Amino acid sequence: MIKKEIKFNNKRKEKLNFKNNSELDVMRKYKKRSDKNFCVEKGFYPLGSCTMKYNPRINEYCANLDKFLNINPNQKDEDIQGSLEIIYNLQESLKEITGMDYVTTQPCAGAHGEFVGMMIIKKYFENKKDFKRKKVIVPDSAHGTNPMSASMCGFQIIQVKSNEFGQVDIEDLKPLLDETVAAIMMTNPNTLGIFEENILKISNLMHKNGSLLYYDGANLNAIMGYTTPRKMGFDVVHLNLHKTFSTPHGGGGPGAAPVCVTKELGEFIPKPTVEFDGNKYFRNYNRPNSIGKISTFFGNFSVLVKAYTYILTYGKRLKEISARAVLNANYIKEKLKEDYDVSHNTKCMHEFVISGESKKEKGVSTLQIAKRLMDFDIHPPTIYFPLIVHEAMMIEPTESENKETLDNFIEVMKNISKEIDNNPENFKNYPSKTIVKKVDEVYAARNLDLRRK
Ligand SMILES: *Cc1c(COP(=O)(O)O)cnc(C)c1O
Repeated sequence: MIKKEIKFNNKRKEKLNFKNNSELDVMRKYKKRSDKNFCVEKGFYPLGSCTMKYNPRINEYCANLDKFLNINPNQKDEDIQGSLEIIYNLQESLKEITGMDYVTTQPCAGAHGEFVGMMIIKKYFENKKDFKRKKVIVPDSAHGTNPMSASMCGFQIIQVKSNEFGQVDIEDLKPLLDETVAAIMMTNPNTLGIFEENILKISNLMHKNGSLLYYDGANLNAIMGYTTPRKMGFDVVHLNLHKTFSTPHGGGGPGAAPVCVTKELGEFIPKPTVEFDGNKYFRNYNRPNSIGKISTFFGNFSVLVKAYTYILTYGKRLKEISARAVLNANYIKEKLKEDYDVSHNTKCMHEFVISGESKKEKGVSTLQIAKRLMDFDIHPPTIYFPLIVHEAMMIEPTESENKETLDNFIEVMKNISKEIDNNPENFKNYPSKTIVKKVDEVYAARNLDLRRK
């Protein structure tokens, strides 16, 4: 029974004037709209750090099975044994992939996973009655969500610099360490696509200081099967299933970011956990030191099914995914080196960063290069990130692409470089071949109107 009527101030007052559309009319309208959209199925999508890989259809098939679609998470454990088994098996797979001991599948995005991971770290120190540890160290190359998540947990953020090799500067790190430091948050390879070679030295330093290490797993696609965050000395990890383990994402689509932790932190993970007693799968609410419930049920279950399907499809061959992702990135980087300034001239991992500064001196900004790429049915790379590279372009081809696609991208990029030399003024009018041509950003900013017309 609803006892009190909730009053919405923004409730619509007049009736909407909807036409009585037929199903066909509606289908056509949305088909037209979706045709204007760009997606992995339409073309190359080298959006650095986002791992826009191909999402095999079998994942969708499995996630859409009746048995998964028509259950209710409030059903009794004995009625949903199959679904619990999938969550449990996924947890076991992720333990093996990360080297960790406990997993929660509840977080619904990378940033959500970071927040949960930092809550676990906070609880760990509170449980030890160590209340001095209020600081979290974050490299200057970090994804913006890292400092944000830690600060939302009440930590104070301290920045550590990168050195000339694009890696955490140990000499800058050492003086920051004292008994007020709770943790460092890192991703490895980092957002420059460079492997942090000193990671073992860093994890030793941190642990000697009584601090923990948080691994932002968004870049796991570079190392899967070759090493684990555990071997590098990390204590807490989140994985972006919607990146590494293939779920369509972007535009706010559903995500899942399980958090995996070591034995020492296991008692703090969100409840309920999914466990197996040798006979049946069950939800365990009896976890007194848990940080509590952080999501409805177990997060985005369909994303978990897709990830599990993907892992089963590859099995022990998951390693080949990383090998090919790294090979593809190095191939493009080597070919583009003559025409563009790569941020760091070393072997890269699954992605690399170009600086468009010298192109800007010729009158063409990174944003304009990105817009020009759209004329060739290529999604622009991530731009202006990481912040420590001027005019940055971050290119991540992923393992899914064949050599023709990579070669086409390289050729387009080389031609753009020539265009910049010959006709830089043309870049003011790009993109010129897309469905929506160059937009008037100044007008849009000054006359912002988000109402449905
Ligand atoms: C994508 C990403 C995140 C955040 O993940 P979301 O699922 O978008 O919240 C964090 N760190 C890095 C390095 C990323 O690439």
